[in-house]
Amino acid sequence: MNSPVWHPFTQHALEPSMKRIVQTGGACLIDEDGSRILDAISSWWVITHGHRHPVIMRAIQAACETYDQIIFAEYTHEPAETLARGLVEVAPAGLTHVFYSDSGSTSVEVALKMALGFFHNSGAPRSRICVMEDGYHGDTIGTMSAGERGVFNAAYEPLLFGVDRLPFPVTGREQATFDAFERFCATGQVAALLIEPLVLGAGGMRVYPATIISELKRIAERHDVLMIADEVMTGWGRAGSLFACEQASVMPDILCTSKGLTGGSLPLAATLCTAEIFEAHLSADRRRTFFHSSSYTANPIACAAAVANLAVWKDEPVRERIGSLVGMQQERLARFQEDLRFASIRQAGTITALDLRVPAGGYLSDVGPRLRAFFRERNLLIRPLGNVIYLMPPYCVTAAELDRAYDAIDEAAAYFAAGRL
Ligand code: PMP
Repeated sequence: MNSPVWHPFTQHALEPSMKRIVQTGGACLIDEDGSRILDAISSWWVITHGHRHPVIMRAIQAACETYDQIIFAEYTHEPAETLARGLVEVAPAGLTHVFYSDSGSTSVEVALKMALGFFHNSGAPRSRICVMEDGYHGDTIGTMSAGERGVFNAAYEPLLFGVDRLPFPVTGREQATFDAFERFCATGQVAALLIEPLVLGAGGMRVYPATIISELKRIAERHDVLMIADEVMTGWGRAGSLFACEQASVMPDILCTSKGLTGGSLPLAATLCTAEIFEAHLSADRRRTFFHSSSYTANPIACAAAVANLAVWKDEPVRERIGSLVGMQQERLARFQEDLRFASIRQAGTITALDLRVPAGGYLSDVGPRLRAFFRERNLLIRPLGNVIYLMPPYCVTAAELDRAYDAIDEAAAYFAAGRL
């Protein structure tokens, strides 16, 4: 099958054809043969309540009766206004303003620009961004600069800017992370600390405790460094609470959200910030304007989908569904405890991860692709990160569906142990 489509993160020489999906529903994708594929990673982590949630789909249909794109400078519209008020209400207290964009990456780019703009406009510019090692924040030049470097960005390395990297807070060695942060802050050059709270997603689903975030925030405050929480993955219940920061009782200065913002139905992102940051951009001097826009900023239909997502959170027992999913995952993971085929097993809210004990080979090893093919043959959408097999299902997933995924993981580990995979 010859297609002009160039797919993301795909080596087309090794993967010449794609499975064609003709419909979605619940926790599944349905392919052209009618097979139901369990979407165990929520289509790159975006689907929260389930595919095609009726409340969100109806809101999209209704918005289409009234709107398409509307320029978002000089003009505003009801879905964007209602959504912003709703976001400020549910986000950590103190985040008072909402800037819209279209993807997780752009929400982080906006956050970085807000932080640099804040110091620039305050008359004491700062130029450094501090991040955690193994982080991932997107694939634009700016977010790649902030993310962990490796095979993914070798070609672009000459254009990436330098950042200050904190060691991952390994249990028992947390002090090294705090000390490094203190040291970087002491230069007086750090504008912001950018972190994925609680779970480093694409960096291998590495989990760290909420207390680390509170301590980092204390250090940041001592040095007037802003904290940016990249909640693109962890937001909307993924890590167990609506936003992961809640678990640390920390109010970040800037919060990035996308993916589950529309329940996964349409692309939209928002960067929330404090009044202080917004006000640093208020001036009779036009040079202090926040110079960022994209053509599709605050698309009314996507905003209407996100307003409907807020309604689902308010009107439906979403937290109960998450609680039950967390419990089911715990129960299934417990059966793998002491299982020597896995080097590590962990859970953060609705997310679980199992590291298959295989010789390290990194992204270029064929462990990931072999596992993917194994799961694909069993109608499971599971895309391991190297040897890290993780599940991040929609909240509507059933116990039977989860059993199917975990049984296949068990089977895959057995195949690997026997050298058959
Ligand atoms: N930040 C985090 C924490 C992410 O997990 C991702 C996407 N996986 C991004 C940013 C980038 O989001 P997008 O792919 O929508 O640009």
